[in-house]
Amino acid sequence: MTLKDVLDKSTQFFKQKKIESPRLDAELLLGHALSMERMQLYLNFDRPMSEGDLSQCRELVKRRSTGEPVAYILGEKEFYGLSFKVNKDVLIPRPETEHIVDETLLWVKNNCIEGEKVKIIDLGTGSGCLAISLAKKIKNCEVVAVDISEEALVVAKKNAEINQVSSQVTFLRSDVLKLDPEVFKGACIVVSNPPYVGASDYIEAGVKAHEPHIALFAEDEGLRLIYDWSQRAINEAKGRNNFFMAFEIGDEHREKLTEFAKNKFSNLGARFVKDYSGLDRVFIVSKNS
Ligand code: GLN
Repeated sequence: MTLKDVLDKSTQFFKQKKIESPRLDAELLLGHALSMERMQLYLNFDRPMSEGDLSQCRELVKRRSTGEPVAYILGEKEFYGLSFKVNKDVLIPRPETEHIVDETLLWVKNNCIEGEKVKIIDLGTGSGCLAISLAKKIKNCEVVAVDISEEALVVAKKNAEINQVSSQVTFLRSDVLKLDPEVFKGACIVVSNPPYVGASDYIEAGVKAHEPHIALFAEDEGLRLIYDWSQRAINEAKGRNNFFMAFEIGDEHREKLTEFAKNKFSNLGARFVKDYSGLDRVFIVSKNS
């Protein structure tokens, strides 16, 4: 059997199993099993597969066929052009979360003096993708990344090392509501991708079966932690004359959050940013001097 035969067979198998991107996934997994870039696979189509190669490939293909996400099998995922280690203890970074990085960078550009020290807090950091991308992109910034999961923080710290921002990011294990007020002192930016899936919301079977529920689900139709954490952040920022907060949200949360913002911080007002599918995805509250 050649490499091409295995690739075709795996693709066919994934199709049968209703995997969404069968060819791409087969290429990524075979590339990983054989330590080859995707491009190299094409240049080696005729390579005969040894029994060792075959068993490596078989194992990864089997895992994917049961719905395990490719990122967990590969152990990494790209986010904002950077590479992040992932495992079952952290949510896999998703492209829609990149909007938070974009919006934050834009706000910094328009509201901070170039080179000024900027302090950022990331609530529920998970893999650290938000904290680390911002630390990488903003000159002279200090990030505090908070998570309640010790296991997630192990992954996030590793990612800070890999992306060479360990000296800019401090990791804290805490419940957001129990965070020492000192942590918020001097912070002009709070970002978060909190758990926001409601108990009765639709969620892909592969996500539900493999990604950490602590990072996905929240009470009150997914809104509980968005309410509590955003309110804490806004309270702590009282008295600041410039402040920016961006939370990722579920696409059905806009109406309730508009009402919430009107009741709780009407002087600031809220705005929403859509993701690439046109769904409301980011809840932003800011104050500009
Ligand atoms: N967007 C994710 C999903 O629907 C949920 C992410 C989250 O809860 N923070 O799979």
